[in-house]
Amino acid sequence: MLNLNSSIKYIKGIGEKRAELFNSLGIFDVDSLLHFYPRKYEDWTNTTSVAEAVNGETVCIKATMITPVKENMIRKGLTLYKCRFSDGESVIAVTIFNNKYLANSLRVYEDYVLFGKLEKNFTTASMSSPQIEKITATDSIHPIYPAKERLNSKAISKAVRTALDEIDEIPEILSGDILKKYNLISLDKAIRDIHFPKKEEDIAPARNRLIFDELLVLQLGLLKLKGTKKKETGIKIENDFTEDFMSLLPFEMTGAQKRAMADCIKDMQGDYPMSRLIQGDVGSGKTAVGAGVIYTAVKNGYQTALMAPTEILATQHFESLSKLLSPVGIRVELLTGSASAKQKREIKSRLIDGEIDLLIGTHALIQNDVEFENLGLVITDEQHRFGVKQRAALAEKGTDVHTIVMSATPIPRTLGLILYGDLDISIIDELPPGRQEIRTDVVTSGYDNRIYKFVRDAVDKGEQCYIVCPAVEENELDVKSAEQLAEELSQGAFKGYNLGLLHGKMKPKQKENVMKAFVQGDVQILVATTVVEVGVDVPNATIMVIENADRFGLSQLHQLRGRIGRGSKKSYCILVSDNKSEASRERLLTMKKYSDGFRIADEDLKARGPGDFFGSRQHGLPDLKIADMVNDVETLHLTQGCAREILASDFNLDNPHNKALCDRINKMFSSIYF
Ligand code: ADP
Ligand code: MG
Repeated sequence: MLNLNSSIKYIKGIGEKRAELFNSLGIFDVDSLLHFYPRKYEDWTNTTSVAEAVNGETVCIKATMITPVKENMIRKGLTLYKCRFSDGESVIAVTIFNNKYLANSLRVYEDYVLFGKLEKNFTTASMSSPQIEKITATDSIHPIYPAKERLNSKAISKAVRTALDEIDEIPEILSGDILKKYNLISLDKAIRDIHFPKKEEDIAPARNRLIFDELLVLQLGLLKLKGTKKKETGIKIENDFTEDFMSLLPFEMTGAQKRAMADCIKDMQGDYPMSRLIQGDVGSGKTAVGAGVIYTAVKNGYQTALMAPTEILATQHFESLSKLLSPVGIRVELLTGSASAKQKREIKSRLIDGEIDLLIGTHALIQNDVEFENLGLVITDEQHRFGVKQRAALAEKGTDVHTIVMSATPIPRTLGLILYGDLDISIIDELPPGRQEIRTDVVTSGYDNRIYKFVRDAVDKGEQCYIVCPAVEENELDVKSAEQLAEELSQGAFKGYNLGLLHGKMKPKQKENVMKAFVQGDVQILVATTVVEVGVDVPNATIMVIENADRFGLSQLHQLRGRIGRGSKKSYCILVSDNKSEASRERLLTMKKYSDGFRIADEDLKARGPGDFFGSRQHGLPDLKIADMVNDVETLHLTQGCAREILASDFNLDNPHNKALCDRINKMFSSIYF
């Protein structure tokens, strides 16, 4: 007998080997299998006949198998299985590629349903590798799962069916009152219907219920993480040192920078701890604002911390901020994973003695043994790279400390308010004057040779270049991986040049080393996936070539492009794409038209829908399986209210009837970072 916690390998038909395939989709137990939802449905209730069908149409036909399967090995790795079916009037020649299992399971004179594209001409009708099922399964709508190679949708569907047949009723996690108030069906019905709806009308209520659950759990988790009530702060800043600070800067702050800084100072002078999000496009100068707030906090007698997502970025902040702040007596230190044990010990002891004013580092800052004497302000840079939990963990290093998160991800304002709840938001919507416009072009791969020559010319003049490729799944044959490309280029177009390679599968240390070499100019051309660090400043890099650019979201392209154009030299972004569709071309041309991140984000949302845009990597929130934060924004509002109601009567969710809900929260939030 199965229950929700049973391991997937106990489901009939799944052994250790198959279980691993399921694991790779994030499915470990029956529960996660049941929450792995179909991507879409195929309607097999509407069958047709060969005579009625149009040539080339995807159809569903009931037919009897009339000839046994003939096996025909064309060459190694390609075997064709051929047989014939009849729908009562016409004969259909069916060819099955390589699928021996399917071919062997077919029996002459039995009835099947064929689903696939029908090719018709005057004399014959045929189908290539249609889906074939026994006739009993035809009275249903077929779920199609986001499958993987070697684990197809049908196998997933079969596992779900078996699991659902064997488990008891799925326990309800919401109270009857809530179900009634928000007009929701039971969880058991929702799960069963989302996988195997009997009719099309079953799908919407099931989706509705599951979207509600997911967003409710998200809201509950966020509210719990934040704590709902603001406590009074003991860290009240008395004096404003803005004028002082500005005189240190080699430039005049923009109006937007000044406003953001004033917002922060005002917050810190108030009765409650500051929680502020500073949003500003790449290059808008968020660091200077952060530095100003740090300066003010330190001058008022508090310690401060700045956390960056990567070592290289932390190091850059350390270099620029110590240059700015050390001359006026502010003691700045860097703490990262790669410091020696001795260095770490020393820093930690000086920290607790109050001999460090600003500690900069990676998530090494939030380890337990890092203690401050009187921490007053915590700033998290490129916030979207951190999980919400990490943000909270750093703030807990002090009592009621002021917190700022800085992010370059443009999020529509209403959504930001919901997602960040009690965070206040300052937007830096102005770039420093005198920025060079980056020239952006969209070309096909036919231009490769010209592009490479252009790159060589620039590199010969001492400039540097990024070549960015999409991250690639192993089974995608049509797209080159960064590794392949780097290999080819180092033998070909860039023979004799120093090439670096950077991709997500490398160890953090290796990545740091490559980035360092690029920062120092030892690597001239960096072939990379999108791991090219957000926020890193290499002013000498003037060209970015983005391969298969159509595979990236526009906001992502914008972030990438922000890596160049940071120095005084003219910079070029070359988007390479062979995608011929009009829509794709239009989308890429947006990059040529606009340089404003918020504007591009809007276009991105319009063109792609919110799914990718709000992928968890962009904001540090857990992955959502069924809800989407733009189309389901109304439900998001509803669940925010509902979450507040639930927490109002049971803030810690330790009431037994909220146990199941609590488990769901833990499950969802365990998926993000530590
Ligand atoms: P981001 O918002 O992407 O973090 P940075 O803080 O790294 O941007 O700033 C980008 C560059 O702009 C830095 O080299 C910084 O010194 C410079 N900068 C920031 N503010 C101004 C300003 N008001 N005038 C001129 N240059 C500025
Ligand atoms: Mg930055």
